[in-house]
Amino acid sequence: MLGQMQDKPLLISSLLEHAERFHPNVEIVTKTVEGPIHRCNWRELGERSRRLAIALQKQGVKHGSMVATLATNTYRHLELYFAVMGLGAVLHTINPRLSPEHLEYIVNHAEDEILFFDLPFAPLIEKLQSRFPTVRRFYALANQDSVETAAPAIRDFAGYETLFDDTPADPSFTWPQFDERSASTLCYTSGTTGNPKGVLYSHRSTVLHNHVISLSDSLGSSADATILLVVPLFHVNAWGLPYAAAMTGAKLVLPGPHLDGKSIYDLLRDERVTLAAGVPTIWQMLFQHVDANGLKPREDLCLKDAVVGGSAAPRMMIERFDRDFGTFLLHAWGMTEMSPLGVVCRLLPKHADLSPSQRYDIQMKQGRAVYGVQIKIVDDDGQRQPHDGKASGKLMVSGPWIIGRYFKGDDNLLDSEGFFDTGDIATIDEDGYVTLVDRSKDVIKSGGEWISSIDLENAAVGCPGIAMAAVIALPHPKWQERPLLICVKKPGAEVDKAAVLAYLDGKIAKWWTPDDVVFVESLPLTATGKIYKLGLRQVFKDHELPA
Ligand code: ADP
Repeated sequence: MLGQMQDKPLLISSLLEHAERFHPNVEIVTKTVEGPIHRCNWRELGERSRRLAIALQKQGVKHGSMVATLATNTYRHLELYFAVMGLGAVLHTINPRLSPEHLEYIVNHAEDEILFFDLPFAPLIEKLQSRFPTVRRFYALANQDSVETAAPAIRDFAGYETLFDDTPADPSFTWPQFDERSASTLCYTSGTTGNPKGVLYSHRSTVLHNHVISLSDSLGSSADATILLVVPLFHVNAWGLPYAAAMTGAKLVLPGPHLDGKSIYDLLRDERVTLAAGVPTIWQMLFQHVDANGLKPREDLCLKDAVVGGSAAPRMMIERFDRDFGTFLLHAWGMTEMSPLGVVCRLLPKHADLSPSQRYDIQMKQGRAVYGVQIKIVDDDGQRQPHDGKASGKLMVSGPWIIGRYFKGDDNLLDSEGFFDTGDIATIDEDGYVTLVDRSKDVIKSGGEWISSIDLENAAVGCPGIAMAAVIALPHPKWQERPLLICVKKPGAEVDKAAVLAYLDGKIAKWWTPDDVVFVESLPLTATGKIYKLGLRQVFKDHELPA
């Protein structure tokens, strides 16, 4: 027997409609590409999104059309989110840090029809436009006078604001209703090996994911929150937070392209941000700004939670946020293929009396699965491993916002139980906390046992004078592989190999001790701000470990 409740589709447009109706005056603040602060609210954003939708329809955009963005976090990008998806078209958010080859590949693979870009990317578009045969129209996201001054040499080109010029508000416009399983956004994974792969989200997967990330035991969004989206709108829908803000009425703060320590600190302070989300490299830059200027974040800021994901949060970062900022570092794990949230590290009531140091031990874990995500760890034969905090295995996931197959890919990615292999290796403890041991391709296999590059890096960045650290495996005649530690020093620090090894002594198992420590000026980063291990492996492939 079927239930008899209304069969209303879960559509992204309903989030915006709700925000307009119930949180009309809540602000959306942008540090624009040009620099000045722009302010609007959910009512204005809703109105402009509807006008934009009408303008896009006039441009031939319809259900299933592919509309691409190459843009940072601004209110204009957010308008495109709601206008394109609201029409049932697909928003393909492109990571501008991808190589030209990958950009060419994904625009053609997605068959993008219209491409919106931030004006500073105009030279890139000028260079690549002839390689984008499917794109019939380009728009620059900027004020019209900036567009006219820049006058880029791009075919079929116009300024974004011209779309509004001929499109007055139409009170009779309503968002179309369609199947909630319709595609909403397309994101490609960075493709550290081979071509990037497309992940195609649906309205249903997005709205369900959104409900769960908004819970207070999850990332937590609410009407009294102010959320700074350091994580880009082009990276897995900024972890879903824009939708959560619309649903709950949170104030949104968008940093545009300004991700340096000073810009982030100023936004945190001036906009009274309570929740911010970003990868660890962003927070390192913030710490450097605080140190260099002798700032007092505990007095200046009211940041309650800093969500850290994408790479492991080092202990030093957890401690620093707690001690100097009064901020809880909220560790989370997920991936593009998971919309992205899988697990999040909130404490349980039984942890209430722990000392700070014991609390940090728990916060270093990636966290517990949120409702909707099933997890298991398995060995090479697919056998489930116990959740005892010791046994490690391949981390597999299943749920309504987890990938079934890649865009235009034929292969079924799932095992016989419907689980997707994340490519990560993890343990799960009795309370369900997942600890990531490593990415399976980064783990160091020494003498038949595993050394976690994540654990070694976490330990190394705690060493005084070390700003960043990466560990890679090098081939070894006896042990098969051994770890090489690659470090970046803090400005002016006088630290050497002996000091780092002495610091690590006693903090890691003896046989994990890196065979060598080298110092570099900077570490290469991927398009999503993670340490580019593949690049490091190429650079150091001939490095000889001391005997
Ligand atoms: P990309 O592959 O483009 O870098 P993703 O963001 O999809 O993009 O990467 C997902 C991967 O990032 C995960 O499979 C995992 O290896 C790593 N990751 C994500 N969050 C964490 C975390 N909290 N700790 C350690 N690794 C993480």
